[in-house]
Amino acid sequence: MTQVVLASSNPGKLAEFRALLADSGFELVPQHELGVDDAAETGVTFVENALLKARHAARATGLPALADDSGLCVAALHGAPGLYSARYAGRHGDNAANNIKLLQQMQGVPEAQRGAFFICVLVLLQHAEDPAPIIVEGRWHGRVLDAPRGAHGFGYDPLFLPDGQTVSSAELAAEVKNHLSHRGQALRRLREQLG
Ligand code: IMP
Repeated sequence: MTQVVLASSNPGKLAEFRALLADSGFELVPQHELGVDDAAETGVTFVENALLKARHAARATGLPALADDSGLCVAALHGAPGLYSARYAGRHGDNAANNIKLLQQMQGVPEAQRGAFFICVLVLLQHAEDPAPIIVEGRWHGRVLDAPRGAHGFGYDPLFLPDGQTVSSAELAAEVKNHLSHRGQALRRLREQLG
């Protein structure tokens, strides 16, 4: 088994990534178990931040590293909340405040202009100086609702109506969401790349 450091400490993600890579010969170890702190996310795109996180973890451990970066991009808001999705309203991870801010920003925006997508970028580096990282992404398109719906999921799920669905992503069963979502798409692409 090749150890790979996961540049995230989120237990939900660890379980999802481990399940997908179960038969890949990789053993994922979260970076905090190896004493690695969080990287400074100074990029201006998701792919830059995922690369920064993976390189930081690879450099600190000497192991191959996998990192992800994700968020919600709303066309009418020029891509916001974007890189700031987790702290749109100011405090990191305050989902309720983030959703209130998104609703305020979208007030009065007509139905036809409420398009948005979730994006997830995954980067796998063999080592810190790897010049050819594996980079994959998934995008989940939909629109921003004008009131929250549903209690599953996290983040902006109650305000996101995926294309082709009649319910919000917070009303979908977890297995359905994980299959359709930006993260599910990106993880499948990574699995394909790994052969
Ligand atoms: P992270 O990079 O995966 O931690 O995601 C950053 C932020 O994007 C989260 O804090 C959420 O606000 C938002 N986000 C990412 N993925 C999802 C999702 O599947 N549903 C709802 N919000 C999401």
